[in-house]
Amino acid sequence: STKGTAAATVPNDQLLGGLLSPDFDEQSCLSRYQTLLYRKASPYFLSSYLISKLRKYEQLHKKCSPDTLLFQKSMQQLKTNHSTDQLECNYVIWSPLGGIGNRMLTLVSTFLYALLTNRVMLIHKATDMVDLFCEPFPGSTWYIPSDFPIKNFEGYNVHAQNSYGYMVANNLINDDPNSPPSALPPFVYLHLQWDYLNHVLHKRFFCEDDQNVINKINWVLIKSDNYIVPGLFMVPQYEQELEKMFPQKETVFHHLGRYLLHPSNSVWGMVVRYHNSYLAKVKERIGIQARIFHWAPISTDDMFKQIVACTHEELILPKPNPVQSKSSSWQPNETTTHAVLVASLYGDLYERLKDMYYTQSTTTGEIVSVHQPSHEEKQQFEQQLHNQKALSEILLLSFSDVLVTTSGSTFGYVGCSLAGIKPWFLLSAKDRKIPDPPCRRAITIDACFHSAPDFNCKTRSKAVRHVRHCEDYQNGIKLF
Ligand code: GDP
Repeated sequence: STKGTAAATVPNDQLLGGLLSPDFDEQSCLSRYQTLLYRKASPYFLSSYLISKLRKYEQLHKKCSPDTLLFQKSMQQLKTNHSTDQLECNYVIWSPLGGIGNRMLTLVSTFLYALLTNRVMLIHKATDMVDLFCEPFPGSTWYIPSDFPIKNFEGYNVHAQNSYGYMVANNLINDDPNSPPSALPPFVYLHLQWDYLNHVLHKRFFCEDDQNVINKINWVLIKSDNYIVPGLFMVPQYEQELEKMFPQKETVFHHLGRYLLHPSNSVWGMVVRYHNSYLAKVKERIGIQARIFHWAPISTDDMFKQIVACTHEELILPKPNPVQSKSSSWQPNETTTHAVLVASLYGDLYERLKDMYYTQSTTTGEIVSVHQPSHEEKQQFEQQLHNQKALSEILLLSFSDVLVTTSGSTFGYVGCSLAGIKPWFLLSAKDRKIPDPPCRRAITIDACFHSAPDFNCKTRSKAVRHVRHCEDYQNGIKLF
């Protein structure tokens, strides 16, 4: 670390108004210092309380990092499966689940949970997490060490016997909020994957009394594919703290994502090369993220029609003018070029859109160029380059001026929140038909919590007023 020298040379705007720590070596993570050259500055309020909370967290993380004696002390409890009184360093471990979009949402959710509960967040470096993100905390690591006693992360699922839900159901845990830490196990697994909804006891994670119990446990492991942040706002004891950190509720992912998720130098190289080759010198950048889910099937032909209908009806892209294209009066209006970035697993949508603006001029004379960095055809698992491409495309989307994304896609959510842009959601097809209207504008920039809990806690938060149904996903909730 170059503490001191870096602090003196890095201006405050480069640190995003104090959001980022000055205590880093620039070369280790170029994106941390260069993203501001590509992405617009945040127009949203950043509270000084959040900034001081982050600086305090960084100190705690350093104090409790895996190379310290305090970490060894906490790890001893895990190894012996024996709790003593509350320890100085308590941890939450994150393990990856789902695609890159899901992972970015759960990393931020878990980090917010760590901030709220004074835990240190460490992550399991699965093979396909290598060389994706930079270390986010100065002078420290966020990876669990290789000699860590918990190894089989895949084995933790809805039935895991050391899950909080299972232990409560089988009286294996003393769920009296007044019980001392020594009466509790040193480790508990918090199952927050979508199927937790079918089990009342997993859902108690979002209840005040249960949070008081869990907070006394030295180690927790979270596995989730959900953006649980709106759920955390509904836990009464976190309400005030969250209000202070995020006076504008919808900015949670926007700020914490910009703080935490810096792409590695390899991924950043891809982003910069692509952006500078195809997207840099235009008047307006339009990101279109298209995904076909098995729960809303639609042909690519119809998906294309839906995108065209949306972008034309909402005046996002100029309409083609087949007649004028043939006339000698047509002159390109080069000062107003639009660049469309298509992010999709398939090449079809891009080919058709490109063809439309290649073979015809537009009614306004504006030129529309269409680009797609990759078409991987299908989602792949445990493939590093595949994930790096996905992450690059999310970042390229986040440099857009306007975004059109697919309803329910976490890939799209992350691009929009990082950008600070309310997207147009391509609405989900019903009965394989193009929906009418084809798209709808989001009300906020934050992501949707798809598997929101139905409430059955004893105490209920007033913060329900900060939560509404998502525009794009049935039964989901989001902050506003
Ligand atoms: P979600 O399934 O849309 O919520 O988004 P996720 O990112 O969680 O999972 C989708 C995964 O499929 C991504 O992580 C990629 O691996 C892949 N994928 C989906 N769409 C794209 C795309 O437009 N570009 C690339 N490169 N990969 C994609």
